[in-house]
Amino acid sequence: MLRGAWLGLLLTLMATPAVATSMNAFRERAVTDPHGLIDAVRQQLDQAGIELPPARERELLWGMGTAAINSNDDAALAEATLRLDGLATVANDPVAAAAAGFLRARHDIANGVGDGLGEALKAADKVLGESDPEIVAWARFQLCDAYALDEKPAKALPLCRQAVTAYRALNDDYGIGDAENDVGIALATMDRVDDAAATYERSRQYFARAKAEQLVVMVGDNLAQMYLKQGRAREALALSRASLKQELATGRISDALNSSADIARAEAALGRHREAYEQMRKVVAQARTAGINGQLVDMLKVESRLAEQAGDLRQALADEREAARLGSAVDTPALRAIEVELEQRYAAREKELRISELEHANELKDLQLKAAEADAARRREQQQRQRLVNTTIALLAAALLLIVGLLALLLRAQRRHAAELQAQTLRDPLTGMANRRAFQQRATELLGSPREANAAPHVLLLIDIDHFKCINDSIGHLQGDRVLRLLTDYLRTAVYDCCFVARIGGEEFAVLCPQAGLAAGMRLAETLRAGVAALVLPQDLPVARLTISIGVAQFDGTRCHDLSSWMRAADLALYSAKSGGRDRVEASKLAG
Ligand code: GH3
Ligand code: MG
Ligand code: MG
Repeated sequence: MLRGAWLGLLLTLMATPAVATSMNAFRERAVTDPHGLIDAVRQQLDQAGIELPPARERELLWGMGTAAINSNDDAALAEATLRLDGLATVANDPVAAAAAGFLRARHDIANGVGDGLGEALKAADKVLGESDPEIVAWARFQLCDAYALDEKPAKALPLCRQAVTAYRALNDDYGIGDAENDVGIALATMDRVDDAAATYERSRQYFARAKAEQLVVMVGDNLAQMYLKQGRAREALALSRASLKQELATGRISDALNSSADIARAEAALGRHREAYEQMRKVVAQARTAGINGQLVDMLKVESRLAEQAGDLRQALADEREAARLGSAVDTPALRAIEVELEQRYAAREKELRISELEHANELKDLQLKAAEADAARRREQQQRQRLVNTTIALLAAALLLIVGLLALLLRAQRRHAAELQAQTLRDPLTGMANRRAFQQRATELLGSPREANAAPHVLLLIDIDHFKCINDSIGHLQGDRVLRLLTDYLRTAVYDCCFVARIGGEEFAVLCPQAGLAAGMRLAETLRAGVAALVLPQDLPVARLTISIGVAQFDGTRCHDLSSWMRAADLALYSAKSGGRDRVEASKLAG
């Protein structure tokens, strides 16, 4: 705010060296290069001596005076005002008198001494009746600036707007920029942040149009503070950095410190609390070194706030105390009261921080607990899923095994059944002996297989029960069956292991003796015949006598050359035994 007001005062009048003099001649240089301007003016005044026209002298002195205010050069200011007063008297120049008055007003307001506003009003009164519109605009602006500087925004605002209008009539872009800047300052003082920001932006546009680039940057400093309040920290930071650069380049230490403080505040607003705090510490240290105590109180307050945000409560408290000590008069009880209040505030704040730390720790624990619970639940679920999968796999495996087992059993049963069926087709159901089909199979196999060298020929015995019809007729068919089974049992035990016996018809049997030779065959046949004849039949079987007839044929490979011819030969021998009287054994005449 202060700088804005200075700007207002400083920014005055422009150089038009070749033509008429103007209160604007040095207004930009007074701001951008105050020391250089003071030196230059002094030089010109010395060189020119008494030849200098009064209007030109007034122009130079006004430039020097504004530069003196900008650079806090009290000696140059005193020199300028004294000489302007002298000029006013000697040349009867009200504008010179007004200029001296405005310079004094500015000094008194800035330093809080005398009646600065009264001085400014008297000065304005001297020239507002002037016919030169440039002088009138100048005077209006000086008055507005005095009120703005004195932080009387309600009074400043209409005056500054009048100044804007006056400069507009003159098409003076620099002047409009200057006056708009003061309108902005008044609005900012009234906390009309958005309006102030818009006005500062306008001011910068006019300064840009007037090619006063340094002024654009300086108003940017005021705008930065509005941006900060609007939460536009990034834009504020950019503006403050640009300002700082320019202030350092032109040696405006006080302004540079203010810009540095603005940068720290913008950093804090961007959440970079530690950087902001470090920056502010440097600013305060530099302010102490430069002995700029006027700004130190505000800076300490800013540092305290930033220290608190950065977590350095001890430093925050120390800064607040120092600011209170510097700010208040040496009123010890009042100072003590402030300190007590501060201590209480920070104690409460520390407690709050501790509580929030504890809460944070508890929240963390809660979160960890919840995470652990969720983890455990997830694991339980995983285990359950795994168990389910395992059980399913085990069940499937068991089912598979069962199926395989059942299939194996089924297969075995089927095989057994098939074997059974196969066996049944080869067995006689009544006696359990091999049947005709089995006999034919075995005989065919035998005839198909190669014979050993010098082996005896195979022999076939065909057996038929004698007069079996009569037996059947006398004792009944069922008893006849019983007789058949008795004979079967006998033949089974009586025939050698090497021979094969089968029931090939109703009461007809065949005995196949491989490589037995006819003689052995005949012997076997005789044994069988005699054995049957000697059989002792059960008492309940009323059969007087059971005899058999046997035809024997050996396979000679000539007349008996296949199963059919061999069977026929044996059958003929059997017939022969029957016709020979029965209970006999006959060898085939055909076989050799
Ligand atoms: P031969 O001495 O000339 O052989 O007189 P045979 O009475 O035995 O005459 P044949 O061979 O013609 O008769 C066989 C009889 O055997 C006829 C039949 O009733 C009987 N027979 C055939 N199969 C069975 C059977 O399974 N059970 C019973 N009980 N009798 C049978
Ligand atoms: Mg028969
Ligand atoms: Mg018979």
